[in-house]
Amino acid sequence: MSTCEKKEKGVGVLRNPWLNRGLAFSEQQRDALGLRGLLPAAVSTRDQQVERWKALIAQQPTPLMKYITLDTARMIDEALYFQLVMENVEEYMPLIYTPTVGEACQKFGHIYRAHRGLYICAEDRGHVRDIVANVPNQKVDIIVVTDGQRILGLGDLGACGMGIPIGKLALYTACAGVNPQHTLPVTLDVGTNNEEFLKDPLYIGQRHKRVDDETYYALIEEFVAAVRERWPNVLIQFEDFQNTHAFKLLDIWRDRVPCFNDDIQGTASVVVTGFYSAMRVKKEKLSDQKILFLGAGSAATGIAHLIADAMVEEGTSREEALSKIALFDSKGLVTSRRTDKLADNKLPFAHDYEVCTSFADAVRHLKPTAIVGVSAQPKTFSEEVISLMAQYNKQPIIFALSNPTSKAECTAEEAYKFSNGTALFASGSPFDPVEFEGKTFVPRQGNNSYVFPAIGMGCIYTHAKSVPNGVFLAAAKSLADQVSEEDLGKGALYPPLSEIRELSVAIAAAVAEYCFEHGLAQIERPADLKAAVREAMWQPSDPKFAAGE
Ligand code: NAD
Repeated sequence: MSTCEKKEKGVGVLRNPWLNRGLAFSEQQRDALGLRGLLPAAVSTRDQQVERWKALIAQQPTPLMKYITLDTARMIDEALYFQLVMENVEEYMPLIYTPTVGEACQKFGHIYRAHRGLYICAEDRGHVRDIVANVPNQKVDIIVVTDGQRILGLGDLGACGMGIPIGKLALYTACAGVNPQHTLPVTLDVGTNNEEFLKDPLYIGQRHKRVDDETYYALIEEFVAAVRERWPNVLIQFEDFQNTHAFKLLDIWRDRVPCFNDDIQGTASVVVTGFYSAMRVKKEKLSDQKILFLGAGSAATGIAHLIADAMVEEGTSREEALSKIALFDSKGLVTSRRTDKLADNKLPFAHDYEVCTSFADAVRHLKPTAIVGVSAQPKTFSEEVISLMAQYNKQPIIFALSNPTSKAECTAEEAYKFSNGTALFASGSPFDPVEFEGKTFVPRQGNNSYVFPAIGMGCIYTHAKSVPNGVFLAAAKSLADQVSEEDLGKGALYPPLSEIRELSVAIAAAVAEYCFEHGLAQIERPADLKAAVREAMWQPSDPKFAAGE
């Protein structure tokens, strides 16, 4: 049985976004499908349809209206929507994902128009399997699931967080060719502690406080069992869970099912990419670096662990690798001498340093080769901090990763200016090129979108049994290898995002290769892996799409 009703005819075709091609249906198709008279006489090409929608989107006054218009295109004709997005990925990515998706989630109840994805409520315990049975997709390769508690930096948005799994899955398709009919966004609606939402008559979720006791984990257990029963190879990506749950869920599930957490592991992969690129510039080993993080939350500890893994891969012992990484949180340097109780995820990095509450002093004390900002505290990489880094290092690594731009630890301009043009800089938010003393620097964003779609594609392609940290290192290496010498010369540690589709082919193949080498793949290895992965990537023009295969 196909994903869509193959024999659908007439208006049913036009109302089905998986089948509808609107004015692009040819004369013959209109006859065969019983569409005569239901469409105006003109036949448009796909390119003309794209142009029509592009003009419509351009006319919208705000990013949110552009988001809504793009989503409307998707409700009408999914293949056209993806053609639009793929041909304009740099322009539309900030609309379908961050930053616009944040506003869309905040207003999700007010802009809600039509169903998409699956909502599983705390009240559904005991019946989750019946709810999963209602999903119309016969095949699901990937689920992005959130409980809406920590949506971007916006906090608890309850069921309105659904905009995130929807947007993220659109990127899996647009960037790495995951078939959109085989994707499923899921929201676990366990309530919300957002008082404003609880009072809002247009709020779309369960109107009670969050369920946060043992039944929360029981619901997730039931959800995972139900989706794996229906789609045994499904890859599950946990998204925007509050820190404690995020780490705990990963611990519970990482060895049991194919799953990962992009906030923790995808971020780590893209940041390690930045380090690998920086090593190409500095011609040094990662295990020679001494890295100080500003921030010790999920992003920081996820990145720190993957850096340690990368150092171990270079031959360093884990103990030594951990000793080269230090964290600084809101209370100061994370040390074993601190009297407050440190969260579990910080303990491996709590070394025997003196207590220190000024970041500049920590830099003075530790003399790191790299500082990584994941604190969401703007301007904390001050002139003093950056010039100290330049004093201790010929080419200091300075990654200001906090989002949005207003929260960045420093701007690109500050990093280059205060380091006298020596910084190897990457950011979490986009920055324009910077002119400094006659040289143009092109800073690029360590955007997770470089890696998570291709990691997903590589795991889906191989039917990976699990997704260990090595997968994220494989992805990071592949991406770093694709940064051109010319880009490195301009200070760019990442390739242009406009090349994402090609980059993704190589990354997905590298991930697949890792899965074959480590006994995680459940298919036979093709002779030409890269060609096979490319072939498996869905295209909007794929005739199988309309046929629902
Ligand atoms: P989090 O809330 O888990 O962690 C924030 C950390 O910052 C905590 O450890 C906190 O103690 C620390 N902190 C707060 N105030 C501080 C201060 N004044 N001085 C030092 N430390 C302080 O958040 P997170 O999920 O780890 O994300 C942190 C930031 O990283 C966010 O801005 C997020 O947008 C950004 N991020 C960027 C990327 C990317 O660029 N690819 C990916 C993920 C997260």
